[in-house]
Amino acid sequence: MIGAIDIGGTKIATGLVDSEGRLIETGRSETGAQSRAEAVLADAVQQLLSGCRTHGVTLEGIGIACTGPVDPTTGVVGNVDLLPGWCGVDLTRRFRETFGVRVAVENDADAAALGEFRWGAGVGAKRFVYVTISTGIGAGVILDGHLYRGVDGSHPEIGHQSIDASGPRCYCGACGCWESLVSGPALAGWFAVQLPAGDSAAGLDAASVCRLAAEGHPVARGAVERAGRYLGVGLSNLVTVLCPDVIALGGGLMRSAALFLDPARAVVARSCGLVPWRRTEIRLAGLGADSALIGAAQAWHHRFGDRLRSRA
Ligand SMILES: [Zn+2]
Repeated sequence: MIGAIDIGGTKIATGLVDSEGRLIETGRSETGAQSRAEAVLADAVQQLLSGCRTHGVTLEGIGIACTGPVDPTTGVVGNVDLLPGWCGVDLTRRFRETFGVRVAVENDADAAALGEFRWGAGVGAKRFVYVTISTGIGAGVILDGHLYRGVDGSHPEIGHQSIDASGPRCYCGACGCWESLVSGPALAGWFAVQLPAGDSAAGLDAASVCRLAAEGHPVARGAVERAGRYLGVGLSNLVTVLCPDVIALGGGLMRSAALFLDPARAVVARSCGLVPWRRTEIRLAGLGADSALIGAAQAWHHRFGDRLRSRA
């Protein structure tokens, strides 16, 4: 049994994950801007301890998935916009000291990619990309059973590939980033701007826009078609650059996948003529909303455990 922790911009979730990827959730709490990192982590330790007592298990190891830049070798958090006050915090120390086991830390999209690769939509794939689309876009790449890392163990920021060089300036420095065109806030924002004067978009989030589009609202349909097209441009880049067997799509926006997938696939079909694009299957992720939590456990296996038994 592996202890799993998923640290996001608004919440931290803990659970126990068995060797088949089955999750027993043990706790969930807020990581608001005001929450102190050490207090939040101390809470997570207590949740795991309590889960172990309740289920009568001891932990073989602990995996942590964390949003934003995090050093996978030291477990230290980088400068994360979403987690002010966490920069420089060692995520592993409390867990190592309390449980006496090895702790693996990964970026949350990489952890989810590992989980999907082993237990979800990527089973059997040799070249696998996982993309999560919600408030932003995160992605992880697995080649021949190994998580792809950049220089110094860095996490490639596929959500910040420039899709439209004349698009809006992103906080990363580039213009027209994928996530600034396709994320939930991007969809809701574009919809609000396009509404005729007098119509109010107040309180309408991406899920509401998707619902309106399904009901035939013309502006909402336009917003969804635009996002589907841009989704397809980013996917086409992945297909042309990596030629993967499978790209799995997850995240909140994919709860309305039926609205986006056909336009996105149409872009891939007309954009990737130099590679065998038909051999890349674009499918939905399989582990649902807990993919990063389950993936945190797989990150531990990938680092310390049964990597050689994964389907490389
Ligand atoms: Zn960007």
